Amino acid sequence: MNEKKIVIAIDGFSSCGKSTMAKNLAKTLKYIYVDTGAMYRSVTLYALRNGFFNIDGSVKEKELYNNMPNIKISFKLNMETGRPDTYLNNENVEEAIRTMEVSSHVSSIAALSFVRQTLVQQQQAMGKEKGIVMDGRDIGTVVFPKAELKIFVTASAEIRAQRRYEELKAKGLDANFDEILKNVKERDYIDSHRATSPLRRAKDAIELDNSNLTIEQQQEWLINEVKKII
Ligand code: C5P
Repeated sequence: MNEKKIVIAIDGFSSCGKSTMAKNLAKTLKYIYVDTGAMYRSVTLYALRNGFFNIDGSVKEKELYNNMPNIKISFKLNMETGRPDTYLNNENVEEAIRTMEVSSHVSSIAALSFVRQTLVQQQQAMGKEKGIVMDGRDIGTVVFPKAELKIFVTASAEIRAQRRYEELKAKGLDANFDEILKNVKERDYIDSHRATSPLRRAKDAIELDNSNLTIEQQQEWLINEVKKII
């Protein structure tokens, strides 16, 4: 199914299963997969480790700005999982970036325009050769406005919180459903109300509400959409 290499943008709210969909699709198509949320999470982890948050949760912007050149994010294929792991300055941070602490600080980092500018540039460079599936919040609107296929995924906040809860539990990490639900709702709000690149559906994106779909059903739907194009 690799006749024509295209760019596939998958956007949507947090924990709606975008990454699973995008990863599986990239594997099937033998495309590169980029989880842009992992990039914002990596910057957040760096900021947390270096004390770039004030007690009230706001970001010490000047410090972070000056340190942006020291933050190198990359992805390397994990031979065991067959999926890319996220590296921050050559350290595998795939697990460290999924904690509640990172989740509850990431939206403030993602609202900073200098952070977005830096990461968007890197994302656009990764997609230059096409043959890429990228998931995030602004992929179809800002990073690749000309992507051949744009998907906007939604699901109810409760269902998304439940999925994140199960994901954390499965990894043996601490999880509290109410706390996760609160975090999901807070991130929805901040992500869709920020001044720079707010989360919104691109006009030409196809909407998929996956509240009641299994991973397999989603995958089938997605492959069908891809087949229409390539
Ligand atoms: O996708 P994930 O939930 O891991 O993303 C974490 C956070 O990173 C989001 O809540 C959002 O604040 C931010 N993000 C973003 N733009 C992207 C991807 C993620 O603002 N393209």
